[in-house]
Amino acid sequence: MTSLTTMPRTARAAGPSSCSHPSKPSLPGTPSRNGPTLCVCIAVLFSMLLFSILFGSLFISLFVSLFESKLLAAGATSPLPQMGPPIRGLRLAELRDTFDEVHHGHRHEAIDIVAPRGTPVHAVVSGTIQKLFLSKAGGNTIYEFDDAGVYCYYYAHLDRYAKELREGMRVERGSVIGFVGSTGNADLRTPHLHFAIFRLGPEQKWWKGTAMNPYPAVVEAVRRENTR
Ligand SMILES: [Zn+2]
Repeated sequence: MTSLTTMPRTARAAGPSSCSHPSKPSLPGTPSRNGPTLCVCIAVLFSMLLFSILFGSLFISLFVSLFESKLLAAGATSPLPQMGPPIRGLRLAELRDTFDEVHHGHRHEAIDIVAPRGTPVHAVVSGTIQKLFLSKAGGNTIYEFDDAGVYCYYYAHLDRYAKELREGMRVERGSVIGFVGSTGNADLRTPHLHFAIFRLGPEQKWWKGTAMNPYPAVVEAVRRENTR
């Protein structure tokens, strides 16, 4: 009972001082006003946190899907276009998967197709002759890009190029682009075509790409030609 009578008196005594100083912050002994404000503040902070987490994850997933679609557009997962055989009249028994073999101290990352010197080499897909390059290892080489600019086809150790072949020139699948030889570091006694496929990066540089095993695609091409 004593508390009931003293409480209002204390409140009344505090009254005038709070009126004369309206900007003065409330005393800690008045939980009836601060309690709900604190609760509201916590609720607002909590919902802000929840909001940022929700939208943060939404933003991340949106970014990831955008990145994936960009990769798709760059052809990172596009299938290899159907190829023609680089050399005509091959038998399946003449093909060997040497992609993972070590040649001259490096992983081969290509296949070698042995054929007599001067055998015509055909473009395996329609595309553009991106680069004609004489390299120490590859000898006379051709870098051909497919029309989508996703894959690069590499033909090396050529004896010579086809007469009219120029950089930037468009070629159709099956066109003769060069002739089998042993230029570069190939054994003079075993002329062959060193054939590789690279998946180009977004920068589409002829010297930059990820090697893909060409063996399955060449086998398919030879099989198609033989069943025709
Ligand atoms: Zn080779």
